[in-house]
Amino acid sequence: MIIRLIISIVLFYIVYRIGKLLFMPGGRTVKPIPKRHQENLTGGEDLVEDPCCHTYIPISDALAWKGPDKNHYFCSQKCLDQYRENH
Ligand SMILES: [Zn+2]
Repeated sequence: MIIRLIISIVLFYIVYRIGKLLFMPGGRTVKPIPKRHQENLTGGEDLVEDPCCHTYIPISDALAWKGPDKNHYFCSQKCLDQYRENH
């Protein structure tokens, strides 16, 4: 029967693919995961908004200023000074 022949070919192919994955560690299985790469761009940190120029910066790169109501974060000293003058 031709169906049996096709099934054996498909089975052989599946076994061949599994064998290739198991015995070739340098193959397609060790691809870098893109999601993790995205997280590394900001180091998984929180982004804070600069209230002066409204850009978002990672909290470790931001300049903190303890304002009257809450902490404010700025991208640069210039923005901090400008904001403090107006508040
Ligand atoms: Zn700024």
